[in-house]
Amino acid sequence: MYKVLLLPGDGIGPEVIAQARKVLAFLADDCGLDVEVEQALIGGSAYEQCADPLPEETLGRARAADAVLLGAVGGPRFDHIERELRPEKGLLRLRSALGLFANLRPAILYPDLAGASSLKAERVTGLDIMIVRELTGGLYFGEPRGIHRLEGDIRKGVNTLEYDENEIERIAHAAFRIAQHRDKRLCSVDKANVLEVSELWREVVERVHREYPEVSLSHMYVDNAAMQLVREPNQFDVVLTENMFGDILSDIAAMLTGSIGMLPSASLNEENRGLYEPVHGSAPDIAGKDEANPLAAILSVAMMLRYSLDAPQLADRVDQAVQQVISQGLRTPDIVYSARQCIGTQEMGDSVVRALSEQSLD
Ligand code: NAD
Repeated sequence: MYKVLLLPGDGIGPEVIAQARKVLAFLADDCGLDVEVEQALIGGSAYEQCADPLPEETLGRARAADAVLLGAVGGPRFDHIERELRPEKGLLRLRSALGLFANLRPAILYPDLAGASSLKAERVTGLDIMIVRELTGGLYFGEPRGIHRLEGDIRKGVNTLEYDENEIERIAHAAFRIAQHRDKRLCSVDKANVLEVSELWREVVERVHREYPEVSLSHMYVDNAAMQLVREPNQFDVVLTENMFGDILSDIAAMLTGSIGMLPSASLNEENRGLYEPVHGSAPDIAGKDEANPLAAILSVAMMLRYSLDAPQLADRVDQAVQQVISQGLRTPDIVYSARQCIGTQEMGDSVVRALSEQSLD
């Protein structure tokens, strides 16, 4: 039996996780998913109850779980708290405690939502990209770092970009394995014309490629990759890149799909245990109004089924159910662009469950 830990968090987090929970419950009750679901505190709500945004109990349960599904953390109510105790710090601590080095961010365009893309519909039709970003190394973690005072009272900021071969190798394996189950095309993005770290990155990725001959590998400089993502995004299948480049490129790719309420993500460790979460934040402006789009959270469940719970068929069914409610014209307010049927968070969750149950009858 798999163990799943739900961490609803703050703002719209509890609202969207409640819908994801309905989907998990349906899969457990009607589709034979062998799963035990628990819930714990994180973020501002954990701080309010336990004076810690990541209580020991939550961390212990997360370590024992096969997968963690998180809503969102943060909000203006917590902005005055000292930095170390802020909600976001709880999430960062959780990511590093679980050793989540591989961040997967799919950017998929649903045909009925093409109007929401920042690009013309004909450029993004059929868009289906997976960005695999290294998450625990590179410039964001390298030492030395800091702001130092030099002679003459001039200050100097320092960050260090570093990757060792093992770090590159494990993220490359993760990306090649994902490419094997997709269109078998992997583009590794670096800046090898300028950076020695990228030169090593390229060499190691090529070495790892020998173990995956069925996947075609290409390399692209990051500046060109940013340009190509908005010029001809359909040329990409899997994009593999380091931490900072991935941070930027995944946000560009997200905008190609239109709505932040539709974007799931996964962060995996060496054992394929993962933290699954919508890309969006706690959306304090709409919290408590039954307006949040729960589809990013529900699509995060699909990723969890695929990558941590070894249930790719159920993952496909959840993806199809989401596709179905969208093509039925059901929309939460964030994705209403024309006269469509506007529904709330809970009704959207129920609609996905209904679509799943109708599939079972087929
Ligand atoms: P946000 O993603 O919360 O909201 C940005 C805009 O998108 C808002 O207008 C919001 O209403 C809308 N939106 C977001 N999710 C939506 C959904 N599911 N359905 C419909 N509309 C949605 O980003 P923000 O406003 O910059 O941040 C708000 C808080 O969330 C901050 O405290 C921030 O630190 C936190 N945050 C948390 C995470 C996380 O938990 N991983 C990520 C980003 C931001």
